Order: sequence, then structure tokens, then C-alpha cells
Amino acid sequence: MALENTRVIFKKRPEQSATPDCFDVVKESLAPLGPDQVRVEVEYVSVDAGVRTMLRGEGFHRQVPLGGTIHAGGIGRVIESTANGWEQGQAVRGGLGAQTIATVPTSQLEKVDDLPGLSLSAHLGVLGGSTGVTAWIGMRHVACPKPGDTFVVSAAAGAVGSIAGQIAKKEGARVIGIAGGDRKTAYLVDQLGFDAAIDYKNEDVNAQIAHHCPDKWDVFFDNVGGSILEAALDHVNLRSRIVLCGSISGYNATRPIPGPSNLSNLTVNRARMEGFVILDYMPRAMEAIQDLMSWVSSGQLIYQVDVQEGFENIPTTLQRLYNGQNLGKQLLKIGL
Ligand code: NDP
Repeated sequence: MALENTRVIFKKRPEQSATPDCFDVVKESLAPLGPDQVRVEVEYVSVDAGVRTMLRGEGFHRQVPLGGTIHAGGIGRVIESTANGWEQGQAVRGGLGAQTIATVPTSQLEKVDDLPGLSLSAHLGVLGGSTGVTAWIGMRHVACPKPGDTFVVSAAAGAVGSIAGQIAKKEGARVIGIAGGDRKTAYLVDQLGFDAAIDYKNEDVNAQIAHHCPDKWDVFFDNVGGSILEAALDHVNLRSRIVLCGSISGYNATRPIPGPSNLSNLTVNRARMEGFVILDYMPRAMEAIQDLMSWVSSGQLIYQVDVQEGFENIPTTLQRLYNGQNLGKQLLKIGL
């Protein structure tokens, strides 16, 4: 009997946030495999903020056409193969899409090892391209903190921010995280060892940055943009660096967002603001993964995965990133 795939497709362009009615779930019988293909049963889907920007119809991310399967990184196991060296049971990671069974050429896949003591989900979390590897690249290429620097990170309790902050701490920086709510600020200080945390939902961010950075900051690792970036830019130190990793506060916007009004602070302070996109740095991914793995196994790096369940919950799981429900990497478990 033919295998059946269930996939989430793009149904309607969002007006603001990507509500569940923007998606549809379809089932289909799968044709026999072509040459050099594998069929993967997806176990975890990586739910990334960038999915929202793929639904705009334009933008720097590869766009999803209406009716197309939602793009998503995933991890799973080979269940059928016509490719030499890709055996049934092999764990693989890649752009599997939001579906239960992905049929893909091997060129789009990467074999991953079952590591002792680590769930398969870690390969999308702390060791994943859009998570730990993104944080590592942002830190190595742009942030470059030195011992004694003051380092501020936004969306600090999220997937990328929590790793970036811990790397900065390892490099000898004083680390201040910005996140929403008590649960997250307590996590940053008590569990991750940050020096301080600012609750942007209940505190005046500008005043709190001034309080925690009396000598201003040297690195700002920004995942949020908007008013948090603007508040941070009031406290730029001489020759500081701003890492523009993401700007989630603007992804649902229907009109262009005004830029920070205080960019001249960069000129006065000879500061550098630089964006990066992880896809440009994939040749360095193995180096990053080696470092991340060794820090995890030595207990120097703590990570959290927030696992939701149920294939039909992909749209609502995406919303969790936008209302701050996730702590650490947001994943959806769809396999057994
Ligand atoms: P997170 O796990 O950090 O989840 C997103 C978090 O953003 C939420 O938990 C929420 O935390 C916070 N947030 C959401 N809306 C707002 C808002 N309006 N104001 C302030 N905070 C908000 O996601 P990721 O780690 O996956 O992604 C973090 C950023 O990194 C995103 O901007 C993403 O686009 C970017 N990114 C960039 C890459 C690159 O190559 N440059 C690659 C991968 C990700 P809280 O509860 O604190 O509000």
C-alpha cells in the first residue's frame, strides 16, 4: 500500500500575524521513489521566526508560494532509500518541510549521529543551524566580545539569544539579557548565569540598560529590533558592535517600520552595526558544532528545547514565538 504524507501548505497571505487560517493540512499518497532519493519520516520540525517572513511574497528569505509546503528544517530517520550509503534507520537533518514524510534528494540532507545522552532534537536546538550555529557565527564574526566587555542580548531566553549570551559569558563578558516576564528573567540569571536581566514587558528598558550598564555596553546582540534596539542605541560605548541577528518585533508589520531615531550615536561613538545571515556561513557549521558539542558535554552550555506535539499544531506553535510562550528552541514533535 502507498505511503501517505501529510503536509502543511500556505493557504492565505497573513494580514498581520500568521493565524491558523493562513494554513491548510493536506494528505497525499506518495509515488514510488526516484533514483538517488530517500524518504524520511520526520520526527521534529524546527519552528523558526523566519517562517513568517517567508509568507510575505517578497523578502530576503526564500518565499513559500501559495499552495506550497511550508519550509522548515527538520530531523528524522530514513524509512526508504534508493541512494547508496543511505540506510534505513539513519538519522538525518535538512530542509524537510512541514510534513510527516519528506521525499528528498540526498544532496539536501546531512547525516547526524545518535549522540549518547542527547536527544535527536538537540541537532535542531543547540547544535542546529538556525539556533546554536547562528549564535556562534554572530558571536565569532560580528560580536567578538573581549574579557571585561559589557554584552547585552535581546530575546535572551530564546533559542539564539540564550546561546549567544552564554558564549559571551564564556568569553569573559558581563552579560545582560532582555526578555519578557519573570519566568524568563529568572531563568537567565538563575540557570544561565547572566549577570542581570531586564523584563521589557514590565520595566522601562532604556532606564534599566542605563542602570545595568553604567559604563554603557560594548556589544548588543539584537534579535528583536524596534523600540528595544532604539533604547539600546542610547547606551552605545566607544567602538562598540551591534549584531543585527533578527528583528522579530517587526515581522508581522504591514508597513515599513521606522528606523531608530538615534543612529547618529553610532557615528559619535565609532560603533559598527552589522547584519548577518547564517546561510552565508554554512562552511563553518562543523567548527561551530564541535565547539557547541564540547561546551554542552562539559556542562558549560545549558540549552532548553520547548517541544510541542501534534502535526496539526504547526500554525499555533509558530505563534508561540510571537507571543513569547517559548523558552529556548521551539520544536514540534510529529513522529512517534
Ligand atoms: P526565539 O527562540 O528567540 O523566539 C522568539 C522570541 O522573541 C520570543 O520567545 C519572544 O521572547 C521574543 N519576541 C517576540 N516578539 C517580540 C517583540 N515584539 N518584542 C520583543 N521580543 C519579542 O527565536 P529564535 O532564536 O529562533 O530567533 C531569534 C531571532 O534570530 C529572530 O529575530 C530570528 O529571525 C533571528 N534569526 C536570525 C538568523 C540569521 O541568520 N541572522 C537565523 C535564525 C534566527 P520574549 O518572551 O522575551 O518576548
